[in-house]
Amino acid sequence: MSPPLYHIQTSPTLPASADVVVIGGGIIGVFTAYYLARRGVSVALVEKGRIGAEQSSRNWGWCRQQNRDARELPLASKSLDLWERFGAESGEDTGFHRCGLLYLSNDEAELSRWSSWRDFAKTAGVTTYMLDSQQAAQRGQATGRAWKGGVFSPSDGTADPGKAAPAVAAALIKLGGSVQQDCAARGIETEGGRVSGVITEAGVIRTRTAVLAGGAWASSFCRQLGIRFPQASIRQSILSVSPVERPLPDALYTTGVSVTRRSDGRYALAISGRARVDVTPQFMRFAPQFVPMFAKRWRSLLPGGLEGIRGGHETLKRWRLDAPTPMERVRILDPKPDPATVRETHRRALELLPELREARITDAWAGFVDSTPDGVPGIGELPSIPGFILAAGFSGHGFGIGPGAGHLIADLATGAEPIVDPLPYRPERFSDSAWGKVADF
Ligand SMILES: Cc1cc2nc3c(=O)[nH]c(=O)nc-3n(C[C@H](O)[C@H](O)[C@H](O)COP(=O)(O)OP(=O)(O)OC[C@H]3O[C@@H](n4cnc5c(N)ncnc54)[C@H](O)[C@@H]3O)c2cc1C
Repeated sequence: MSPPLYHIQTSPTLPASADVVVIGGGIIGVFTAYYLARRGVSVALVEKGRIGAEQSSRNWGWCRQQNRDARELPLASKSLDLWERFGAESGEDTGFHRCGLLYLSNDEAELSRWSSWRDFAKTAGVTTYMLDSQQAAQRGQATGRAWKGGVFSPSDGTADPGKAAPAVAAALIKLGGSVQQDCAARGIETEGGRVSGVITEAGVIRTRTAVLAGGAWASSFCRQLGIRFPQASIRQSILSVSPVERPLPDALYTTGVSVTRRSDGRYALAISGRARVDVTPQFMRFAPQFVPMFAKRWRSLLPGGLEGIRGGHETLKRWRLDAPTPMERVRILDPKPDPATVRETHRRALELLPELREARITDAWAGFVDSTPDGVPGIGELPSIPGFILAAGFSGHGFGIGPGAGHLIADLATGAEPIVDPLPYRPERFSDSAWGKVADF
C-alpha cells in the first residue's frame, strides 16, 4: 500500500535540450533541479513514475543532525537551514518544522554513545542536550514510565514526506524547469566520451550534463553504462495511525519503536533499523562489500522473500534503449510491508504510548532503502564519463539531507564553490580500481 502523497502536473512537452537533465524525481532529484533552476540553468527532470513516490514519500520525515556520521554532519546542518529557507523563498509547504527530536533510553551503553556524540557535535557547533532521568521522564511524560536518560536535539526537525518532493517540484516548475512524469530515462548518449544526451522513453533530450538521482535503481542503470556502483536495498516497513486527543511528542525515538507526528495529525510508527533483506542477483554480486555493514546490523535484519526480485530494480540484465525497460514495467516500487514487523511495531507503540490505544491503523507500507557499503551516499561526477554525475546510495538518511545534497550536486554541475567538502562522497571511494567497465557477471 502506498503512503499519502501530493500529486503535481507534468509539464506539457518533453524539451529537446536542457543544460542539465536530472534522472529521478525523489527528494534528491527535485532539490538538485530546483537549485539549478534558481541559478538560471535550464533543467529537465525526468521521473519514471510520480514525483516522490518511492523512498521520498515512504520515510519517517526526520531531518536530523543528531547521531550523524562525521562525514554527513556538515550536510545535515546546512540542510536544516535550507529546509527553512526553501519554504520562505518558494512559498511552497514541505511541512518542515524544527520540532526537536527526543531520544529516550534505559540502556547505559546507548546513553554513553549519545553522550560521546554530543561531545563531538559540540566541536562542529551543534547543540544537543543530554537528559538525566528526571528530564527524560518529563520530556517523555506521554510514555508514563521511568527512563535512565535521553537526548533532545532542539534544532532538528521533521518535514512531511507526502508533501516535500511535490512541493519542491512545484517550485521548480514556477522557476521554468520542466518536470516529466511517467518518463523513464533508458540510458545516456555520449560524444567523444562525454555526455551528449539522455535517452528517455519519450525521446532524447540533448544535454552535456546528466545527474542520476535514481535511488534504488541507480546501480542497475550504472551497469548499463559499464559502471560498477555497489548498492544494496533493504525493505523497511512502517505504519500510520489516526490522530489522538492528547498530543504526543512530535518525534520520539526509543530502541523498541519510534513515533513521528505527520502534518495531518497522524502518527507514523516504525522500528529503527528493522528490515527484511530480499536477496536478488545484484545483492549476491555486491554481498562481499556489504559484509561489514550487515555484520554490524545483523540483529535488526531479517531474511526476506521475493519482493526484491519482483521490484526489478536490482536486475543484472542489460536492457535495450529502443524497447520498454524494467523501469517502465515497474513505475513505482511499492513493496509489501512485512506483516510480522507491522504487528510488532504496533504492539510496541501501544505499550510505549498508551494514548495510542484510541487510534486506529490507517495505512501500512514499505520502502526499499538504498545503501552503500559504508552507509554514506555516492555523489560526484564519474571520471569514466565526463558530464555524468551520480547522486545515490543515501543509505536511509537522504530525506533530511535532501536540500544540502541537492545544493551540492547543483554546485558540482555548475562548477560553483561547493556548499560542503564533496570529498567524503566521491563515488570512486568504493573501489578506485573497479570504476570503468564491469569485469564480473
Ligand atoms: C521506511 C523508511 C524510513 C526512512 N526514514 C528516513 C528519515 O526519517 N530521514 C531521512 O533522512 N531519510 C529517511 N529514509 C531514507 C530516505 O527516504 C531516502 O534516503 C531518500 O528519500 C532518497 O531519496 P532519493 O531521491 O535518492 O531516492 P527516491 O526517493 O527513491 O527517488 C528516486 C526516484 O528516481 C526514479 N527513477 C529511478 N530510475 C529512474 C530512471 N531511469 N528514469 C526516471 N526516473 C527514475 C524513481 O522512480 C524514484 O522516484 C527512510 C527510508 C525509508 C524507506
